[in-house]
Amino acid sequence: MQALKDAIGRYGKGIGSSIIKVDMFLNHRLDIPLLNLMGKALADHFEHKKPDVILTVEASGIALACFTALHLQEIPVVFAKKGKASNQAQDMLTSSVYSFTHQKENTILVDPRYLVKGQKVLIVDDFLANGQATEGLINICRQAECEVIGIGIGIEKGFQEGGKGLRGRGIDVKSLAIVKTIRDGRIILDD
Ligand code: 5GP
Repeated sequence: MQALKDAIGRYGKGIGSSIIKVDMFLNHRLDIPLLNLMGKALADHFEHKKPDVILTVEASGIALACFTALHLQEIPVVFAKKGKASNQAQDMLTSSVYSFTHQKENTILVDPRYLVKGQKVLIVDDFLANGQATEGLINICRQAECEVIGIGIGIEKGFQEGGKGLRGRGIDVKSLAIVKTIRDGRIILDD
């Protein structure tokens, strides 16, 4: 998606060989017109599959999920909360997720009242790297007996394994920009 690629080119920074910083528009300061376009692009791709609900994970997936939902007949957004597998987890759907950026294990939790058996779920997140966050959300959908109809991503890091693994299982993954590599702090995108 050209507007996102332009924003990555203008504001994105590569840190080391694997971290991308896009705080300026995607996950600290939010560029609302850009998020609106991104949400529309994801909605256009998935609307024929008629999702009932969007599932994302706090915090940085929420904005893109909301704009996508607005373009899909205003379906609800459910975000998994990050927490400890403690008494907070009682009666919750939970999954364990290793965070690539923070290098630690998180438990993600969803109240089962908000994912109803048989619902079609579109998973949305800002980034796809190794696919841990997405796998955790898929696992939660499985527990809720919901069907994952696809995965919508803002920026996929194509040099990490998440996208390949998901597509290899026949899952429809739509990424609005795919990063080929990071070189000297510069982000090189796929065409
Ligand atoms: P994965 O679980 O696919 O390894 O990583 C995806 C999750 O980690 C996303 O929810 C995203 O918030 C975070 N993430 C992974 N890589 C990056 C990155 O390069 N930059 C930022 N800002 N977040 C990332």
